[in-house]
Parts: sequence; C-alpha cells; structure tokens
Amino acid sequence: MSRQQTIAQSASLSGAGVHSGKPATLTIRPAPEGAGVRFVRADVTDRNAVIPALVTMVTTTELGTNMSNDAGVSVATVEHFLAACSGLGVDNIIAELDGPELPILDGSSRPFVELLTQAGVKEQSAPRRVLKILKLVEVRHGDKFARLSPGEGFEMRVVIDFQTKAIGRQEIRFAMTPGAFARDVAWARTFGFAHQAEQLHAMGKGLGASMDNTIVVEGDAVLNPGGLQSGDEFVRHKLLDVIGDLFLAGGQIEGLYEGEQPGHALNNRLLRAVFDDAASFAWT
Ligand SMILES: [Zn+2]
Repeated sequence: MSRQQTIAQSASLSGAGVHSGKPATLTIRPAPEGAGVRFVRADVTDRNAVIPALVTMVTTTELGTNMSNDAGVSVATVEHFLAACSGLGVDNIIAELDGPELPILDGSSRPFVELLTQAGVKEQSAPRRVLKILKLVEVRHGDKFARLSPGEGFEMRVVIDFQTKAIGRQEIRFAMTPGAFARDVAWARTFGFAHQAEQLHAMGKGLGASMDNTIVVEGDAVLNPGGLQSGDEFVRHKLLDVIGDLFLAGGQIEGLYEGEQPGHALNNRLLRAVFDDAASFAWT
C-alpha cells in the first residue's frame, strides 16, 4: 500500500506567466493528509482565496488549464506544476501564488520538479487515495479523442499528428513508475507556432511567450537556436499536459489513458464524464 505524501518544508520560485506576462512568486508549503493540492492567491485578501486543484474548479481550457473558486478568484496555467506534483507523487501541498498565473519558467515541469525536490518529498501516515477506472469512458471532438479504461497502475498512450515536418506523427507510451516522470517527461517544453503569435497577442495571450520558454515552429523548422532536447519533445510535452490535467481528478489514477491529439478541453471533459458515471470508477 502506498502512503500519501507532502513536502518537508517550504520553497519558492518566481517568474512571469506565459499568457499574462505578469510576474509571480510561487511558494509551496506542506499540507496535512487528505488536503490535496490547494492553490492560494496570497495577493487576494478580501475574499476566499483558496482554489482546490479539482476538475470541478476548471473554468477555461483555452491555451492552458485555468481555475476559479466561487468568489471569482482565479489561477491560470496550472498544468505544468500539477504534472510535477503527480509525477513526484505529492498528494498534499499548498501552492501560494501572489499573482494570477503560474510562472512559465522554461516551459516544462523541470523547475517545479527541482522545487519539490528541494523542499523534500515526505511520506505521511494515511494510505493514498487512488481513482480506479472500472470501465471505458471516452470523449471525442472530431478526429481527436481521449479515453480511460481499466488497467494496472497508471499507463498512458498519447499520439499527436501535425502537418509540419518539424513534428509529424509522434506517439509515446508511458507508465507512471517512481523516477520515470523526471527522467522521461518533466523536461519537455511547451511548443507553439510562429504564425499564431500575433493572433495570440491580439487576444491578450502569449504576452510572456519567448524562445526561452516555448519551442517555436515556423513552417518545417524549429526556430530556437538550441533546437530540441529530443525529436519527440513535442509528444512528451503533450503527455506532460495530460498528466497535469488528470491530476485534477483529486488523486492518482489506476487505469490506462489513451489520447489522440488530446488537449486541456478534452482531458477536462474526460474527467467530468468519469465522475458523471458512478459505475465507471471507485476510490480505493
Ligand atoms: Zn503544456
């Protein structure tokens, strides 16, 4: 039986948000058993500033996973931090933020993995809550789909397919075992297309994006001077996003996730579909 985990002590990092461009400091603190992951907006003092990291708190999934509580207090771009918590098996943690959006840092989960490691992952007494998938649940949008089905442990298969030769069709299979996330997934950076930058800016998004935090693709080329860390860095990042989004279940999953061209919206719909059908899951 695995036990719940938190962190041993507080730790902080700072940086700008990829969409807002606004700087923020993230301070992670230990949390008691059963608390789960809770975002707290330290700059909001006149209202309830706590936003539990749960699928029901997700308000928008355009270009990132964003959440709000009943008091209208929000936190944006949570997925890379949540992926690190899931990957390192941190169940209970307070993530205090003094701005509206998590720092994008290098566009991957690596800085968050380093922060959690620096704070020290610490075992607690209570057994871990696991969301066991009991039957197939699938959501679709055109050619895209995401599904969960019963399986041993937590395994994933993700496929992406882009016309550009810089990406093409990429597939990855991954099993969440100790150490695997940091080794195979955490370092994969987010990516975007040069021709979309202007459109994003016009929407007031992507204001903090640069080649320091995004792999930029133009035509069939990667524009970043340092190139890629691996040819399949794109699908590894997509997997990273899936891991972050699925942690909004409120615990680790026991089952097989499969996604073709998945995104934050599909992943959110998938979790909601699971919770809408009481026969499809059990907390163990
Ligand atoms: Zn991402």
